[in-house]
Amino acid sequence: MLLELNGLHAGLRFSSAHIVFGHPTCGVIHGHSYYVDVKINGERFGEFNFVCDFKIIKKIVKEICDSIDHKLILPKNHKDVYYELRDTTLYFKYKNKEYSIPVEDVILLPIPSTTAEDLAIYFANEISKKLKDLGFSNINWIEVSINEGIGQGACYRMYLKP
Ligand SMILES: [Zn+2]
Repeated sequence: MLLELNGLHAGLRFSSAHIVFGHPTCGVIHGHSYYVDVKINGERFGEFNFVCDFKIIKKIVKEICDSIDHKLILPKNHKDVYYELRDTTLYFKYKNKEYSIPVEDVILLPIPSTTAEDLAIYFANEISKKLKDLGFSNINWIEVSINEGIGQGACYRMYLKP
């Protein structure tokens, strides 16, 4: 059975800024109104014969969205970006471009870039960890689409069972 959550209608959204370092047009600070679609494939179980209660999966995805909403998302694992915490300011440098920004305005994610592709992998990892922590063992795979506005997004499928 497949569960589908449409981020636009289910309120799974965040508005954040990012930089695709080195890209000719996306290499400057700019933002998107993102929304997140999620699919969950698994076996039904329990008293209500659900794959997963919609309330549970929505809460999980919403919490991840809220943690990065209204922030500049930065890729902690980018190989060419240097970071340094200077008191309450984050200094970072990519080639000849240098930035300083209050730490509360940014979120550093453990990903190599902040493209929709890498954000989809990040979300899939976080969602799968939380589902496992909650004891779900009936889920075969999850699929996460990170949409940069309406009409374009990257989709990543993660298998939870071998
Ligand atoms: Zn962008």
